[in-house]
Amino acid sequence: MSLQKDVIIGLEVHIQLTNLKTKLFCSCSNDYRGTEPNSHVCPICIGLPGSLPVVNKKAIEFATRIAIALNCKINKSMYFFRKNYFYVDLPKGFQISQYNRAGGRAFADGGQITLKLNSHKKDIILNRIHLEEDPARLVHKGSIATSPYTLVDYNRSGVTLIEIVTEPVIGSPEEAREFLKQVKSIVQYSGISSLDLEGSVRVDANISIKGHERSEVKNINSFKEVERALRHEIVRQKNQLKRGKELIQETRHWDDKRRITISLRTKEFEADYRYFPEQDLVPIEIDNNFIQKVKDELPEMPSERSLRLRRDYNLSDFDSDNLVLDKDIADFYEEGVNSDALFGTNEYKQYCNWLMNDVSRVLNEQNKTIKDTKLHPHQIVDIIRHINEGKITTKIAKNIIDDMIDGFSISEILEMKGKKRISDENLLEKLGIEVIEENSKIVKDCRVNPKAIEALIGRVMQKTKGQADPHITRTIILELLKEKGITE
Ligand SMILES: [Zn+2]
Repeated sequence: MSLQKDVIIGLEVHIQLTNLKTKLFCSCSNDYRGTEPNSHVCPICIGLPGSLPVVNKKAIEFATRIAIALNCKINKSMYFFRKNYFYVDLPKGFQISQYNRAGGRAFADGGQITLKLNSHKKDIILNRIHLEEDPARLVHKGSIATSPYTLVDYNRSGVTLIEIVTEPVIGSPEEAREFLKQVKSIVQYSGISSLDLEGSVRVDANISIKGHERSEVKNINSFKEVERALRHEIVRQKNQLKRGKELIQETRHWDDKRRITISLRTKEFEADYRYFPEQDLVPIEIDNNFIQKVKDELPEMPSERSLRLRRDYNLSDFDSDNLVLDKDIADFYEEGVNSDALFGTNEYKQYCNWLMNDVSRVLNEQNKTIKDTKLHPHQIVDIIRHINEGKITTKIAKNIIDDMIDGFSISEILEMKGKKRISDENLLEKLGIEVIEENSKIVKDCRVNPKAIEALIGRVMQKTKGQADPHITRTIILELLKEKGITE
């Protein structure tokens, strides 16, 4: 990882609390995905005159959960602000949000996430988190630039957002990626949102080269895009400076199709929004009893779980840290390894490797989470047993993972593929003789290097497309070499 010491990045991460049932200030359904446009609306969330918002208590509880999980200091008394701007996605002409100036406070201040980078640890210090409502969703035909119209779906209007704001302490796109991985994990464990849902996260990034003006890249619509957008913007800024041009403070838009940032406006400051205290909502008071209750009910967090897995299953720091990142994978792991009483340290490690390497590879290729598949924890137990008992080779096992994800058992897959191991000794002996004749150099090597026999076994495997029984093949080749007086 190359550390770009001259780069300064701060992130604002907006997360929809998708696990809430209702919106932030009304009782309309929070779940707008796949619904008829403008069917989950009421006078409050379309901003009709005279309608009065009422804060969703569960949203306060969820915000408290994430604040505790991120080690923030929760403000005991606060009120909402109106952030004024005019746009069609905001029928009231203002967004109900929080403001940490002019006597206002964020929901919580401070906090941090510790990253484990290649060679060191780094604390990413948070500035604050706050609660606000999502504006409506705008729908365009094709791209926003060429669409002949804009459609507005108010089902999203009033959905709860949590905004996590970091200090400008992130030093590279890779650090930003690691930070967002941890955010995603902590949000998943705290049970407030499913960030795999389309549109559930939006990130704004402040980027500058030390000593120069910063730009803000708005509305990056997925965690994956953030690293890409940052890389592009850093190169753009450095190229400007190389050409002798000075950078200006500006807001830019990330175009994820063309993968470039585009200037939207310059010299926009927060004061332009004219924040006013929201007089229609009573101040929020949070007492210690409430915080303690939420704390007591908070599920195990990834860092705690990683320590426990290290202890209970003898995993390395690296393995346990990676395994716990996705809660569903870690749940799957624990169910699997605990279902076989004979499993010990070796199998715990094997199981972890299967999940982290082959299963993760297929999930990435198919863009699925483990819950989207029919894979059952017991299937991985089966794979490990079959390999350890010599019934299938690791190579075959790796080839059948794709089918296992579709829910087939090992025996079903082997039958379908006709990939039973070859244990016919006559056939293997014939292949062994061929291999010894064809590879005189390796055979010669066997006289001085006992490990050279692996290469001969490998040649038999090649001839059988990985289906030769490795134990029988080894025995046969050893005997053939002995007969020829090559080994003792
Ligand atoms: Zn509503």
